[in-house]
Amino acid sequence: MSSNNLNLTSNSKILKSTSIPTLISGPCSAESEEQMLQTARGLINDHRVHIFRAGIWKPRTRPGLFEGVGRVGLEWLRTVKQETGLPTAVEVANTKHVEEALEYGVDILWVGARTTVNPFSVQEVADALQGVDIPVLVKNPVNPDIQLWLGALERLNRAGITDLGLIHRGFSTPNNKPYRNHPKWETIQQIRSLAPGIPLFCDPSHIAGRRDLLETVSQQALHLGVDGLMIESHINPDVALSDASQQVTPAGLTKLLDALDLDHEHV
Ligand code: PEP
Ligand code: MN
Repeated sequence: MSSNNLNLTSNSKILKSTSIPTLISGPCSAESEEQMLQTARGLINDHRVHIFRAGIWKPRTRPGLFEGVGRVGLEWLRTVKQETGLPTAVEVANTKHVEEALEYGVDILWVGARTTVNPFSVQEVADALQGVDIPVLVKNPVNPDIQLWLGALERLNRAGITDLGLIHRGFSTPNNKPYRNHPKWETIQQIRSLAPGIPLFCDPSHIAGRRDLLETVSQQALHLGVDGLMIESHINPDVALSDASQQVTPAGLTKLLDALDLDHEHV
């Protein structure tokens, strides 16, 4: 495949239905019903938040760390949606995740960086979504390989998914400093020209890895014309069971959004 013949049937609905930029926020991981509800209640105070995210199954680098609460978290997510009206989004990496997320009426799915890197896993997710009409966001692979990212889009599209989006969450490189993952900002232009018309989000949380760098990373992404941001938030970030150092409180998110120039030109 040449890199220029990407031919996707794209019809992005939910992701373009909100004011620009679309903001996705919520905890790295669902931990308890209280944590989910308190976070979501805080987030809806800020009308700039459009979609609530939460990790239900967590792909941890080493076993033995918190690996997510599983199915019960989908119940909490459904309660969040009933109470706040926010559409919900979760990460899926295999057939079981897809089936359970669909069973609980999750609105948007995303494929994580550790899944995009593996075509077998992406194909499994795509097969489980055959005939399902749901928006799917695809994070870049952990390593800076744009072809793998495009390949994941194509696999989902061939399974009939047309409501597609991309999330730039940075790359693992020999030197990511001062960030957790290298932003390689030139990627934004590259992916824009290779996958034109596909909404592009930035995930400053997983690029920065630290709260104090979120503003710089978010502003840079907005200047480059991303369509939306995914920013992790937690009612009490310091005790979060995953990604504690990068999450912000709902009030912290409002402060961050206030500091950003959200009203930028889109490219
Ligand atoms: C996440 O969004 O919590 C996550 C695990 O992200 P990534 O796949 O980008 O590492
Ligand atoms: Mn996270």
